[in-house]
Amino acid sequence: MLERLTEMIIGIPRGLLYYRYKHLWLNFFEELGIDYIVSPETNKEIVTSGMAYAVDEACITSKIYLGHVEWLLDKCDYILVPRISDCGSAGKVCTKFQAIYDLAANTFRDRTIKLLYYNVDSSVADSEMAAFLKMGRFLGRKKSRCLYAYFKGKQAQKNAQFLELNEQQHLLKENKIKVLIIAHRYTIFDKYLGEPILKHLHKLDTVPIIGDIAPKKEAIAKSVEISETLPWAFNRELVGSIILYRDRVDGIILVSAFPCGPDSLVNEIIIRKIKDKPVLNLVIDGQEGMAGIETRLESFVDIIRFKKGEFTWKQ
Ligand code: SF4
Repeated sequence: MLERLTEMIIGIPRGLLYYRYKHLWLNFFEELGIDYIVSPETNKEIVTSGMAYAVDEACITSKIYLGHVEWLLDKCDYILVPRISDCGSAGKVCTKFQAIYDLAANTFRDRTIKLLYYNVDSSVADSEMAAFLKMGRFLGRKKSRCLYAYFKGKQAQKNAQFLELNEQQHLLKENKIKVLIIAHRYTIFDKYLGEPILKHLHKLDTVPIIGDIAPKKEAIAKSVEISETLPWAFNRELVGSIILYRDRVDGIILVSAFPCGPDSLVNEIIIRKIKDKPVLNLVIDGQEGMAGIETRLESFVDIIRFKKGEFTWKQ
């Protein structure tokens, strides 16, 4: 049985990198015997609070992130806000992932916020592992236990990726219209931003295929078929997934958070390069209701049905 540090609770904001690393994080803290609390699914209050704290120019996902951090204040001892500089040979990351620690620290400096962080910088050998060891040591755990917790977390992450990839392979076999969703997982899996889009696509009797669920290394390698010069690793993964899935889907929907710099450039490239599939570009700002988006999704699905000879006016 794990000895618990019952006096300490780590707060985890349900935003940005949470969607990528949640299995690693939760298993790491679990194995260290440290309690944690994850902020709730994004709701109107969290969005409103994030918008109030963030500068207007920030993307909606980072605004929402600040809303999650605010929700956790006073509910835990430390809030986990990691800093990632780059993904090594896979590429750089959006500057938000480098800056979010300082943003959170400065935004809430008057509310005695205590942040827990780890830095990932590919110029350091075994960067991620070293960063987790340092974080675990800071939390008062022995090196061997931190190492064990890290590997358990990595394995849990790998298992979860395997399962979601498997599940997606089954969806690809469904005899329905399939649309590939090119969006960061912190956008498309967010309850407030992306989930209504997925729900509506299901309602339209289509199968959403998630671009962010793809073998990452393979996707990065394939991305050069669309662009050889993209700097951002997460965008390269998404672009590569288009090559991996394009022959098995009927259309592609680009979903980005307003006003995302990397996505606006990358989406433009995708629209210019992909000519054999219908492409819909949706930019969501968290304020617009769903009515306009639903109409665009419906028209898009009608276009696909029309191309496939399935469209009837009764629909
Ligand atoms: S990639 Fe775009 S949506 Fe993601 S954090 Fe950066 S600016 Fe925001």
